[in-house]
Amino acid sequence: MSELPSAAEQIWKGLAVSPGVAHAIVHVLKDHFDEPDATPIEPDQVEADLARWRKALEVTQTEIEALQAAMINEQGSGEAEIFEAHLLILNDNSIRKQVERTVRDLLICVDAVYYRLMCKHMDALRGLSDSYLRERYLDIKDVTHRVMRHLRGEMLDHPMFDDPVIIVAHDLTPSDTVQLDRSKVLGFAIEMGSANAHAAIIARSLSLPAVVRLHNICDDLHSGDPVLLDGDEGLLIRRPSAETLAKYRSREAQADAREDALHVTRHQPSITGDGCLVKVSANAEFIEEMAVVRDSGAEHVGLFRTEFLHLEDPDASEDWLADCYTRATKIMAPGEVIFRTLDLGGDKMDPRMTSEEEPNPFLGWRGIRASLGRRDLFRRQLRALLRASAHGKVGIMFPMVSGVEEVREARALLDQCAQELMHEGVAIGEDIAIGAMIEIPSAAVSADLIATEVDFFSIGTNDLIQYTIAVDRLNERVAGLYQPTHPAVLRLIRMTVEAANKAGIRVCICGEVASDVELTPLLVGLGLHELSVTAGQVSRVKHAVRKLSLADCRTMAEEVMCHGCMTNGYEKTRSMAMAKYPELFE
Ligand code: PEP
Ligand code: MG
Repeated sequence: MSELPSAAEQIWKGLAVSPGVAHAIVHVLKDHFDEPDATPIEPDQVEADLARWRKALEVTQTEIEALQAAMINEQGSGEAEIFEAHLLILNDNSIRKQVERTVRDLLICVDAVYYRLMCKHMDALRGLSDSYLRERYLDIKDVTHRVMRHLRGEMLDHPMFDDPVIIVAHDLTPSDTVQLDRSKVLGFAIEMGSANAHAAIIARSLSLPAVVRLHNICDDLHSGDPVLLDGDEGLLIRRPSAETLAKYRSREAQADAREDALHVTRHQPSITGDGCLVKVSANAEFIEEMAVVRDSGAEHVGLFRTEFLHLEDPDASEDWLADCYTRATKIMAPGEVIFRTLDLGGDKMDPRMTSEEEPNPFLGWRGIRASLGRRDLFRRQLRALLRASAHGKVGIMFPMVSGVEEVREARALLDQCAQELMHEGVAIGEDIAIGAMIEIPSAAVSADLIATEVDFFSIGTNDLIQYTIAVDRLNERVAGLYQPTHPAVLRLIRMTVEAANKAGIRVCICGEVASDVELTPLLVGLGLHELSVTAGQVSRVKHAVRKLSLADCRTMAEEVMCHGCMTNGYEKTRSMAMAKYPELFE
């Protein structure tokens, strides 16, 4: 943190990950497992407070039972016994009675009473060498965390803020994000995070400013503090002065004028000066964004991340999913919506999916692996997608494909679902394009094999970069190594494009690099047919493509590939971008 105190305002500098400026009060989301404050309550609040806690216990029970059932499916009943112990702890009558008595006697909110009581039990077992007792300690910890999360979730379900706010948090997971009332959120200021974490991606998608790596702000700020969040410069300003606000107002007016000029041409096709069409589509995560996506000038939706709808309601029915997918499809009609099947795992954890924490979730049960392992969920989603395909143009793509077998297996299940629906007399679309995401080096290297199984490729550079260079996309210590112009990454992209061209299928990039207009010349030169970008960047990327010539971009890309140095590659594409469309960098 760099804090520069002044008489009237305080400034923190972090890393800008989503552009824009917001001026509002903050709402500080406390870490899930901070000891809850012992907030006093009035006698007439006791019953409502206890009811909230009982509801959290109930939801936790459903969650544990679902995990237990999943584990029986996966591994047989032996391993599932652990959840019996969890249910016994959850339903322990003496704990329940003691909590109720203490809340009534001391008139303290139930969160603090329950948490402290469970900590007392944990303290009694912590550090014991007996492995049985140590396991019991871990069981109590696990159950307590689940209940506390639901107690907090309950509060999030009933919005804690009536006015628009800037969310301040230690970290923000995708499941935290889906629980927020997004109509009231104007920006994100986060202590942890990185440009490629899904919270940052969502902020860009929703066109909300976001700044990460604002260390310790959760301790320094209080809900209700007025701040200005600058997602262009990475600044958070508490109590901005009249002078600062005036400076930002004039900057905003200039930015609006520039945006207006781009807005006018947004629906025109993106054809290079020498006649090559490079389509620009948009990425989306939420149904409520779709109107903005359609208005952005995007040709279609190149990536709809379905995990976020799943995290909003992990128990959603096939009917609800089909309805959501249909709504998205109808809004974009006649344009296509390419839905990516669930890419849970990594930083998009659904606690119900896995029964135990994985040592390295990004190399674990993620994407298509998890879907193929949870066929009940996968079938529900595929059937819902097929039903939506009767109402517009739907594409389906599989995430985290590592080789050809996974694609075959997923397609076979899709065909089976289509047959079933036809037998049931349910209409489905006729022309559904099926694609594979290329985001693991093994998939890029075997792209020629995978190409014969699909209608298109979508290159997920966010993951392709992390897996190729072995650099965690969320880890700020190694963020400097996360380089899209690393020669190995460029070779894998080129290999994928060549395999697609040979097989006569289309190839798109849907990772964040597609939204970066400094990289557009290089991506066009590498032969990408399409760029799927954040909705807010569509008009800019289209403008960039129109200003380029394919021949020049190809020559530059060839030079970059021969040179084999990532700094050189970045400088070459950047200087072409600056020369061809300087107006985008003003
Ligand atoms: C990617 O990896 O580039 C991608 C688009 O998928 P996600 O960011 O959701 O992992
Ligand atoms: Mg990915």
